Amino acid sequence: MFPALLPNFVRANLAFSHGEGARLWTDDGRTFLDFGAGIATTSIGHGHPHLVAAIAEQAAKVMHVSNLWRIPQAERLAERLVAQSFADSVFFCNSGAEANEGMIKMMRKAMASTGRAERHRIICFDGAFHGRTLGTLAAGSNETYRLGFGPVPGGFDHVPLNNMNAVRDAIGPETCGIMLEPIQGDGGVRAADPRFLKALRSVCDEYAILLGLDEVQTGMGRTGTLFAYEQAGITPDVMALAKGIGGGFPLGAVLATEAVAKHLTPGTHGTTFGGNPLACAAGNAVLDVILAPRFLEDVRRKAGVLKIGLEALVRDYPSTFTAVRGHGLLLGLQCAQPLAGVQAACEAEGLLALPASENVLRLAPPLVISDDDCAQALAKLQRVCRAG
Ligand SMILES: *Cc1c(COP(=O)(O)O)cnc(C)c1O
Repeated sequence: MFPALLPNFVRANLAFSHGEGARLWTDDGRTFLDFGAGIATTSIGHGHPHLVAAIAEQAAKVMHVSNLWRIPQAERLAERLVAQSFADSVFFCNSGAEANEGMIKMMRKAMASTGRAERHRIICFDGAFHGRTLGTLAAGSNETYRLGFGPVPGGFDHVPLNNMNAVRDAIGPETCGIMLEPIQGDGGVRAADPRFLKALRSVCDEYAILLGLDEVQTGMGRTGTLFAYEQAGITPDVMALAKGIGGGFPLGAVLATEAVAKHLTPGTHGTTFGGNPLACAAGNAVLDVILAPRFLEDVRRKAGVLKIGLEALVRDYPSTFTAVRGHGLLLGLQCAQPLAGVQAACEAEGLLALPASENVLRLAPPLVISDDDCAQALAKLQRVCRAG
């Protein structure tokens, strides 16, 4: 019989009944160290009491009212994100793909509303992943994700990452802006060079086009600062967030400068669920944790310890791992052996990690991991190396 749950995922045969921090338990009592965090999403770990209480309290009061009314929880979350970022205004939605769709629409609208409607094309990068809607499939570079779903919207030009000549060559009279992930997650934990990000900012200023960052995975503290762009010393014009922002509750956001945001006038864009009281209560609770004094400093410290440990594995076991990639708690181990086997070996050791392109094992633990969690993960990886 055809499965009732559509079999569009390759699922490992594990089902978890509960979790705490970086740990997950199966019904049959096995414990796993969760270095995947639901694809870089359960940012403050499983069962965080502050998040659990915020969701339970809000759910009991009012979950959803629609954007026909004021939503104080959304107003508060937007004000806090604005205070912590380059942005002047925030649009809430429910997922990363939706946030990127919103970002693309905002970029195009800003051009159209300033007499430059011909400027609709967006420069994107090889290895990019922006989501699974038709628009974000077109912005992403993975051909296989588009296979059989065409036609996807036009207007996206792909060039190699970290290559300014290619970017300059791609800019034409129809270019609206540039869109990229500061670190490609799905694409193999490939970082944009900070100098490249600076150069992109300059070229956008030079041509009066827009810089859009997809920080769906890198945002909300994942790379050791609230947003990855901070580390390059630049600011974008618009930015997409999701994944970690709700700590596991579905929430996305588009942050923009006033110059971009002001063109989404009433009626131009919308959502039923986006920014509802429950989602924004979750978002505010996550932000309480991440913005607590020294929290991000501690993320950077733990990330440093983890990276040194991973580099030692690469040095000691070059037949398993050949390189470490990424920053903060978005790290990748390039595998010398087929990724599926390495991932299965990790799972057998009780370590959950994520796949990424280019045969990279992606590690994205909750930001709240303890030093002991890190040490245990490294020990498990070492056992995988020894057995391999
Ligand atoms: C996960 C991801 C998306 C898509 O997010 P969904 O919530 O799955 O739609 C977009 N961009 C990046 C960088 C991502 O990591």
